[in-house]
Amino acid sequence: MSKQTLSFQAEVAQLLHLVTHSLYSNPEIFLRELISNASDACDKLRFEALNDATLYEDAPNLEVRLAIDKAARTLTITDNGIGLSQQEAIDNLGTIAKSGTREFVNKLSGDQKADAQLIGQFGVGFYSGFIVAERITVESRRAGLPAEQGVRWISGGTGDFEVESLTRAQRGTSIILHLREDAGDYLNAWKVRDIVAKYSDHISLPILMQKEEWKEGEDGKGGQMVTTDEWETVNKASALWSRPRKDISDEQYIEFYKQSSHDFEPPLAWSHNRVEGSTEYTQLLYIPSKAPMDLWNRDKAAGVKLYVKRVFIMDDAEALMPVYLRFVRGVIDSADLPLNVSRELLQESRDVKAIREGSTKRVLSMLEELARQEKEGESDEDKAKFGKFYAEFGAVLKEGLGEDFGNRERLAKLLRYASTSSDTVSVSLADYKARMKEGQEAIYYITADTLAAAKNSPQLEVFRKKGIEVLLMTDRVDEWALNYLSEFDGTPMQSVAKGAVDLGKLQDEAEKKAAEEAAESFKPVLDRLKEALKDKAGDVRVTTRLVDSPACLVVQDGGISTQLARMLKQAGQAAPEVKPVLEINAQHALVRKLEGSDHFEDLAHILFDQALLAEGGLPADPASYVRRVNALLV
Ligand code: ADP
Ligand code: MG
Repeated sequence: MSKQTLSFQAEVAQLLHLVTHSLYSNPEIFLRELISNASDACDKLRFEALNDATLYEDAPNLEVRLAIDKAARTLTITDNGIGLSQQEAIDNLGTIAKSGTREFVNKLSGDQKADAQLIGQFGVGFYSGFIVAERITVESRRAGLPAEQGVRWISGGTGDFEVESLTRAQRGTSIILHLREDAGDYLNAWKVRDIVAKYSDHISLPILMQKEEWKEGEDGKGGQMVTTDEWETVNKASALWSRPRKDISDEQYIEFYKQSSHDFEPPLAWSHNRVEGSTEYTQLLYIPSKAPMDLWNRDKAAGVKLYVKRVFIMDDAEALMPVYLRFVRGVIDSADLPLNVSRELLQESRDVKAIREGSTKRVLSMLEELARQEKEGESDEDKAKFGKFYAEFGAVLKEGLGEDFGNRERLAKLLRYASTSSDTVSVSLADYKARMKEGQEAIYYITADTLAAAKNSPQLEVFRKKGIEVLLMTDRVDEWALNYLSEFDGTPMQSVAKGAVDLGKLQDEAEKKAAEEAAESFKPVLDRLKEALKDKAGDVRVTTRLVDSPACLVVQDGGISTQLARMLKQAGQAAPEVKPVLEINAQHALVRKLEGSDHFEDLAHILFDQALLAEGGLPADPASYVRRVNALLV
């Protein structure tokens, strides 16, 4: 390949600009990123070598070397991992292949602080070298290729880069940073060691640097540190999770999390255990404090890495965690699985099933502990953790009701909702139960698109009047999830918008009687309403659930709600045609007017359409609605 100059993909150019302009406040992270790439490259080699041991060539010990050249003002990070072919150098260092990063670049706002936060979530990776380097030279050869098929890649980090062939005996990659004027700090070995200790101690790969020695000046005065030819390992070089818990500080746990999951923010909680028994594995699992941007993508989910006896196997092993716990990050290292395990094998393995069950229980315990701290925690910070978790991941957790029957009860205890007595999403089902009225036999709830719509729904009127708390549910998944939660701790869950209201013992005999009588005397009007609305309403009946409103819509018991039907339609899915039931408040002035009215038809349709509006829906024919209302106004 002769020398050629190529342009960066537009998004890369954008990212580069951003990296150099927003990350200067924390420049040292470049080293962490480059060491992490070196470590990934060694993981990849180890993995490919499982099937082809010749890839190790004559250097089976994988390692990273950091070399400083003060005269040339360079810092070089060299690994003997998988290396890059010429085409890989062009593709991987010139374009952003990962859709996540591309999406991220598109979200950049230009607000440097906010953008820097975002960058943290994705990890700027290789390009972070340009925070400190005015030019980067990459020299590499892919394992297994002949020495002449090496590649040299050079860029100043602006619009383009150069590539050319290179003869390179050594397998792997050297990243040569030509440090900028203001980045001279990184020519100091102690400074570099310091950063390694801070960010890369847990990397299981040895990181080596040359020993330095004090050399006296010629005339016996002065002197300086000079590098020797002796290399020494400057990190602990053992995988963090393989060390005993007591030897790991909180800072180290947090740093490991930040690096392995590309998150700036510390995790809310973690759990590190060696599980013994018929299946042996180590788990180090983290609950993040912020949701990633692709949280809602159920396909691209898993965040737990699989290792087998310390060898990295795969990044996104879905089989290790149920989908509803896709926000969990961390590592599982199995002692039993074969090294060449495939995704298909994972799906069927009994060991994996045991790991998945054990890890699920572990995560639920962590969440229960956060919930306990919410009430009994020592610091305000501890008390706030569960709320933070729930705001980010509560809706995802609810998917578990339908997905993980075995843990449904534990999950139900972790649920929180807003209610007619609390605007914040903080009421647990147990809290609700503890506040139930004498004689109340169900946990009442309503689902709606927004909190305002839920709170102002006419269906709540009688509950408000009687001082009965109703849970207000506004997550999209609520409606679906509740199909799987018919009761909590022996008390049935009851939608206030489904079926006829049955307040059970909360309604006294006199009220029931009055309602029955009203229904009887109202019957002729009801029959006319049914006839007028036969295309819209599945039924029309008198209700006691309304106090101030003339009418509302409810769903037949067992039917899907109009809200869910609307959601399905919006999502382009087939929804069964639901004809809701129109319930009428026979005491209401407007309803009383019906009987003798000359405009019976119009009033009937207006009643129906208004009930639809009140719950956030739209009349099927808005123009007719307007025409009818206007006719009456005139
Ligand atoms: P990420 O590590 O998240 O994939 P980076 O920006 O850090 O993203 O790196 C981009 C790509 O460049 C890597 O995916 C890899 O293909 C390649 N790369 C970077 N550093 C090395 C290295 N030391 N050895 C081999 N390939 C590398
Ligand atoms: Mg990287």
